[in-house]
Amino acid sequence: MVRIARERIDDLFGLAEQESQRGELELAHRYVVLAREIGARYNVRLLPEYREMYCRGCSTYWVEGRTVRTRLRPGHRVRTCLRCGRARRSRIRRVPAMTAESALERRAPAAFQGAILVGGDEDERRPERP
Ligand SMILES: [Zn+2]
Repeated sequence: MVRIARERIDDLFGLAEQESQRGELELAHRYVVLAREIGARYNVRLLPEYREMYCRGCSTYWVEGRTVRTRLRPGHRVRTCLRCGRARRSRIRRVPAMTAESALERRAPAAFQGAILVGGDEDERRPERP
């Protein structure tokens, strides 16, 4: 049962990714909700890479610039959900000196992914809505 649940979660995140690229953000959100429900029901943790992809507050699938805003602050990265305003802070450390290879990587759209995550994340509630 657990194995099936994991497969289903993988499928749902695959679908969420696919739909978000087509601009179907509501559908992507729905897939995240279903994946989280399956995880909760069968006591299966979502993989850490999946947990980076949506808002823990409202399950919105994150698309940089559309449903999430990413800002770098000294020592951490703040990702703010544009739907509910919940912020997720991740500690980061200095990015190592740029090599030709990493320079190429950093031209990718999600430039902030280049920062290296250390330690756990923490979520914080923002009282006011944007
Ligand atoms: Zn949210």
